Amino acid sequence: MLGSGLGLIGSAFAQGGGGGPVRELPPSQPTGPPIPEMEREMPIEPGRRLGWAVVGLGKFALNQILPSFGESRSSKLVALVSGNRQKAEQVAPRYGVETHNLYDYQSFDRIADNPEVDVVYVILPNALHAEYTVRAFKAGKHVFCEKPMAVTVEECETMIRAGREAGRKLMVAYRAQFEPHNVEAIRRVREGEIGALHLVTSDHGRILDPKDPADQWRMVKSLAGGGSLYDIGIYSLQAARYLTGEEPVEVFGQIVNKKDDPRFREVEDRMAFQVRFPSGAIANLSSSYSTSSVKRIQAFGEKGSLILDAATEYESNKLTLRTEKGRQEVKMKEQSQFAAEMDHFSQSVIDNREPKTPGEEGLRDIRIMQAIYRSAQEGKPIALDATGSLR
Ligand code: NDP
Repeated sequence: MLGSGLGLIGSAFAQGGGGGPVRELPPSQPTGPPIPEMEREMPIEPGRRLGWAVVGLGKFALNQILPSFGESRSSKLVALVSGNRQKAEQVAPRYGVETHNLYDYQSFDRIADNPEVDVVYVILPNALHAEYTVRAFKAGKHVFCEKPMAVTVEECETMIRAGREAGRKLMVAYRAQFEPHNVEAIRRVREGEIGALHLVTSDHGRILDPKDPADQWRMVKSLAGGGSLYDIGIYSLQAARYLTGEEPVEVFGQIVNKKDDPRFREVEDRMAFQVRFPSGAIANLSSSYSTSSVKRIQAFGEKGSLILDAATEYESNKLTLRTEKGRQEVKMKEQSQFAAEMDHFSQSVIDNREPKTPGEEGLRDIRIMQAIYRSAQEGKPIALDATGSLR
C-alpha cells in the first residue's frame, strides 16, 4: 500500500531531510487502450478560481510558488501540506490559508473530504512525486507535479494510469514552456526566422551546496533519482525538444565527477550529452553541479541564430536574435511563468482539455534521461524509438 511510506517521509524530515529509504511503487500496468475520461460530477461555475493545495513547503514552494498565487487569475491557494506544523502555521496566514486546511503527510489523504481543494501541487523531493500524485488522484484531485516528473519510467506510467483511472488531469510543471522569452524563441524558430534549425546548445549549471538544506536530498540518490541531469539538465533537454519540435532518435552521454568529492558519491556532477533528431538536427547539451551558474540556450539555423541568456531564470531572461537583418534584442513583457503555468492547468481542468505538458511529456523526458545514463554507463550512443524508449 502506497500510504505505508508516510512514516519514512516524516522521520526523514525530522532528521533534517535527506536519507532514508523510499518506498517503491508497484510495477506499472500494461499501457493498453486509453481509459475514457470520466464526466465531471459537478460542473465548475464560470469565473471560479480553482483551489490548490501545495504539498511540501521547501525553498522553491516558499520563495517562488506561494507568492505567485497573488498573480494568478484562475488558481487560488487554499491548503498546505507539510511535515513541519510550526512552519505551516507561520506561512498559512500570510496567504489566507485557514488552519483547518493544514495537513501533514499522515493526514494528507483526508484532503479527499475537502471540496475547497481541486488541485494538488506536488513540490517534494523527486522520489516522492509518484507516491503523492497517486494518493492525490485517489483523493479525487487533479495533480500538478514538479519536474522531474518522477525517478523511474515505471513511476511515471503508474502516475499517468492513476490519473486516467480517477478521471483527473496531470500536468508536469515545465515553467520554461510558459516563460515569455522561451515562448517567443519557439515562435521565431517555427516561423523560420533563423532558417532550418541544425544545432541547439544548452548548458545548465550551478554549485551544489551541502550547507543548503534544499541540496541535501539532491545528493542522495534514493531521493533525487539522479544528479545534475535530473535536476537542471532537464532544462537543456527540454530546450532541445521544444526548439526543434522533434523527438530524439539517438542520445550519447558522458559523466564526469569531481574526484573524491563527497557530494558526488551517489549522484553525478557533470553530464555532457548529445541528442540527435530525425531531421539531422543535433543538440550539444550539458548540466553541472560544480560550475558557476549558467542557464543558457542557443539555436543555430541556416539563416541566423538566437541566444537565450539567461534562459531559465525565474525572471529577467533575455532573448537575442542574429539574422541577416542584424542583431536584435527581443523585449518581452515580464510575467510570472509560475502563475502562467498554474493558470494554464486550472483552465485546462475548467475547460476539460489536455494541458500543454501532461504526464506523457514528463514520462518522455524520464525515458530519454534514462537512456542518457545508460549511454554514459555503456560508453556508446543509444538509439531511441518514437516513444523515447530504447530501440
Ligand atoms: P526543498 O528541500 O527546499 O523542499 C522540499 C520539501 O519537501 C521540504 O522542505 C519538506 O517540506 C518536504 N519533504 C518531505 N519529505 C522530505 C524528505 N525526506 N527530505 C527532504 N524534504 C522533504 O527542495 P526544493 O524546493 O528545491 O525542490 C522540491 C521539488 O521542486 C523538486 O522536485 C525540484 O526538482 C523542484 N524544483 C523545481 C524548480 C523549478 O524551477 N521548476 C526549482 C526548484 C525545485 P516540509 O518541511 O513542508 O515537509
